Amino acid sequence: MQSKSIPVTIPIKSVQPALAEGAACHGGEQTLLDAARSAGKSEVLERYALDYPKGPHDQPQSMCPAFGSLRVGLRMSRTATILSGSACCVYGLTFTSHFYGARRSVGYVPFNSETLVTGKLFEDIRESVHEQADPQKYDAIVIINLCVPTASGVPLQLLPKEINGVRIIGIDVPGFGVPTHAEAKDVLAGAMLKYARQEIMSGPVQAPRKGRQQNPTITLLGEMFPADPMGIAQLIEPMKLAVGTSVPTREWRELYAAIDCSVVAAIHPFYTASIREFEAAGRPIVGSAPVGVEGTHDWLQNIGQSAGVAQALIDEARNKALPIIKAVLSQQKINGRITLSGYEGSELIVARLLVECGADLRYVGSACPATPWNALDAEWLKSKGVQVQFRASLEQDLDAVQEFKPNLAIGTTPVVQYAKEACIPSLYFTNLISARPLMGVAGAGSLIQVVNAAINNQDRFNKMKDFFGTTGQGDLAGVWGEKPVDRPEFRADNRRQMEKKNKQRKAQEMG
Ligand code: SF4
Repeated sequence: MQSKSIPVTIPIKSVQPALAEGAACHGGEQTLLDAARSAGKSEVLERYALDYPKGPHDQPQSMCPAFGSLRVGLRMSRTATILSGSACCVYGLTFTSHFYGARRSVGYVPFNSETLVTGKLFEDIRESVHEQADPQKYDAIVIINLCVPTASGVPLQLLPKEINGVRIIGIDVPGFGVPTHAEAKDVLAGAMLKYARQEIMSGPVQAPRKGRQQNPTITLLGEMFPADPMGIAQLIEPMKLAVGTSVPTREWRELYAAIDCSVVAAIHPFYTASIREFEAAGRPIVGSAPVGVEGTHDWLQNIGQSAGVAQALIDEARNKALPIIKAVLSQQKINGRITLSGYEGSELIVARLLVECGADLRYVGSACPATPWNALDAEWLKSKGVQVQFRASLEQDLDAVQEFKPNLAIGTTPVVQYAKEACIPSLYFTNLISARPLMGVAGAGSLIQVVNAAINNQDRFNKMKDFFGTTGQGDLAGVWGEKPVDRPEFRADNRRQMEKKNKQRKAQEMG
């Protein structure tokens, strides 16, 4: 299988002259960056530039990055999450968080031009944090500065670290500094781990709810399907290791247990700030994941070795797991050519599993960056002829579909939409692929079924294409009360008038 290289399309940067609401989504990035720097946010922006290096596209092409931090905050019990940002951003973020099943309220400190420029907004935030800081209800309060307050330098770092025993975590998560919502999860998870680590260093902390585990634990980094930690626990059990906490955690005291591990498994490889905290605590980090036969083989070796497990026990774990995974993979195969793109950060491990399931995978694009913890996966995929694109732009993902003409395109919403229009079966990465088990034995079986079922839909696509023809395409898209009538003469007339105006303007400029 030979992969082709796809030309890199770099979107043109548009720089808006003024600091405006929503400017980071729609351009104006440089203006916001300059404003943020001169408002005293240089240090945090430089940290982000190092932690989350940018690629061919340097502004969000998916949902607002702050959603990642918001989601991490909302999923933690006894944690209040408050947004400080433009009303339109907060509306979108609140809507999305409830769409994804948040069962908590999102706090909001509104502002207007006056409170923003006079510094009153910060006073309002301080007041609201004091009001909320009830230790009966909360362990922590998270305040997230969105684009405009970050660019305006609203100094969350000046908030007290703790009020009435409630921890206060203020973070800046601007779209012009944090490229993806995946990495924004790390911004909050990292800030919480840092806080928790300092608490550990200052004295005794709460034990885990169910007490400390007997065996040394592995902390899992990344949000994954709930069955995956259980699958991983079975894989490592022969090495006398246990699965500890998953980060982002669901409760504050779990942060202590996460740090109190033997090894950190960076299943999702983009948690740079969190990894910095684990490394500061002296924990070794292992990248990749137990996916497929080869992935599980290597991962078990690396985990066992990092945890100081005897080679005989590592071999025992491998001898137990690998024949079962092999058997599952030999029973059925994925038949077809696939392109894969996503912004969750788990794209490379899914890609590995697809290849091991027999797929003719040609391209994997991830909105996340290359890190030391996905280097082995990238190398492995490249050795199988797969084109790996980090920080992939939407244009590159679409180019891949066009170039490789897959039997199945797995991707983000716009990629899936594009593929469907081109009569290519497609699956949403976030909802349909990353929301299922991927690790160990369960992962191998579940992915083959869903992928083959989707590929087998080609006939239905062809029938629909034949039936609908060009209905609803181009100018005819939308809902019409009557049969739409094309009016080419109006367009021609408008064009003539525009040309006349342009000629007049040019003549005036020259005169
Ligand atoms: S906070 Fe999010 S939605 Fe608002 S401007 Fe920034 S990137 Fe866009």
